[in-house]
Amino acid sequence: MEVNKSIFRENDIRGIYPEQLNEFTISKIAKAIAVKCKKENIESISVGRDGRLSGESLLSSFCDSLIDSGINVTNIGMVTSPMLYFEAKTNKTKSGIIITGSHNPKNHNGLKMVVNDRPVSGIEILSLIESMESKSTSKGELKTKDIKEKYLEEVINSISIKNPSNYKVVIDCGNGAAGCVAPDLFKRVGCEVVELFTEVDGNFPNHHPDPSKLENLQDLIDSVISNEADLGLAFDGDGDRVGLITNTGENIFPDKYMMMLSENILSKQSGAIVFDVKCSNHLAELITKNHGVPLMAPTGHFHIKRTIKENNALLGGEMSGHIFFNDKWYGFDDGPYSGARIIEALSEHKENKNISDIMKTYPKSFSTPELNINVTDENKFQIIEKFIAENELEGEKNTIDGLRVNYKNGWGLLRASNTSPKLVLRFEGNTIEDMNNIQSEFLSELSRISPNIVINLT
Ligand SMILES: [Zn+2]
Repeated sequence: MEVNKSIFRENDIRGIYPEQLNEFTISKIAKAIAVKCKKENIESISVGRDGRLSGESLLSSFCDSLIDSGINVTNIGMVTSPMLYFEAKTNKTKSGIIITGSHNPKNHNGLKMVVNDRPVSGIEILSLIESMESKSTSKGELKTKDIKEKYLEEVINSISIKNPSNYKVVIDCGNGAAGCVAPDLFKRVGCEVVELFTEVDGNFPNHHPDPSKLENLQDLIDSVISNEADLGLAFDGDGDRVGLITNTGENIFPDKYMMMLSENILSKQSGAIVFDVKCSNHLAELITKNHGVPLMAPTGHFHIKRTIKENNALLGGEMSGHIFFNDKWYGFDDGPYSGARIIEALSEHKENKNISDIMKTYPKSFSTPELNINVTDENKFQIIEKFIAENELEGEKNTIDGLRVNYKNGWGLLRASNTSPKLVLRFEGNTIEDMNNIQSEFLSELSRISPNIVINLT
């Protein structure tokens, strides 16, 4: 059997079970990780999995192969990705691996890896597999460990919500792994909790656990309204992203709720705040107004984490809903923790407003969600390079990740997706007309420069 190379990506490993990623492949991956660990003098590693149906069997093969390769393994069982990151931040070797399909369809799975406090790229693991020689070594040992209580205690020590019992929150886990921890977390910080789809079920029988898509938020919106809740929070399949619904049932994009979080954090400490190229100009302006340093980074886990680390930033966030708190937390992305910080910021708001009214205090603008055009993995970067070289768009240009053009009345972005064969676009304007004009200028330039692309925005 051969290992399918397409599953090894810049930030992680992802594939369809069992065609691309299966027990055989994951044993090979484990052996490669063991080689890396030995090079870095790492003797033991913690492992876990999300709630997917293939998780248990993949984790079992993964553990067996690590042990056979002489690595001591601590199995923390079914957890969210942030719980695994927490374990990796607090264990002796600062290393941990989770088997997770994140928000992808239910037959997908993958791995997110941290060794020696650093994220590991899928590409590195592939090159280790290709250069590996098999030799027998002494066996490692297997332990099991339940980290939930330790994690919850630290979260609760970190969060201080004023009058927490005043807040009624609906949490929608979409039957993903967040169900194993989020209900307890919000009850223990003292909120009134309404639970939606908190039983972990890898069939995802209610809606897909991806809060970046509006269709997955409808149940949460209905529940917030019918329960007269103060807010609604939705988490993705492995619990590292958060989506926000206001008391009036409105979906708030991450770059907007980051304005509230930035204001709250910068009222206590000064420092930098990192956000990806898909975020609003108004976020950068608000950070500057509050005496913070706005730092725009390319989209993707790796870039955001690196920029946070290099600048010792207080907070980082992406339009996809990955929010990284580094002011009084460890700097990894954690959906339920971020949700609790949103409630903390709400409770500390100087005018004691509800979340819908707080959102109205920020500059009003009109923006599209993330839009996609299907292309291929082979041509996506060429299309972007050609677009950057040949476009005749006016405005202030930024090419840290694709092309972002800032105008007086808004901005537009065209970049290649890191993870799928797609172009990613987003537009914002001070009025709907501004937004539409910027979008049509970008699209007409794209069809002029690459006439073969079928522009069908999804
Ligand atoms: Zn995720």
